[in-house]
Amino acid sequence: MVSEDIVIISGKQLRCLICGFSEFKKVYTKLNRKWLASFGAEMFGEEGVAYICKNCGYKHEFFK
Ligand SMILES: [Zn+2]
Repeated sequence: MVSEDIVIISGKQLRCLICGFSEFKKVYTKLNRKWLASFGAEMFGEEGVAYICKNCGYKHEFFK
């Protein structure tokens, strides 16, 4: 069984940029687009995903 904590990005295993650890907590994130919301256009906010290193806490964000 492959651990769910291991993250593969574009065919490569993600490793923490800071400490080199390979286990992450996955969270969903949004770009901060408050100025768009004032136009009622929140639907255009880009959704992304972030992986937080379980060792040092560094957050790696990806927006596709
Ligand atoms: Zn780390």
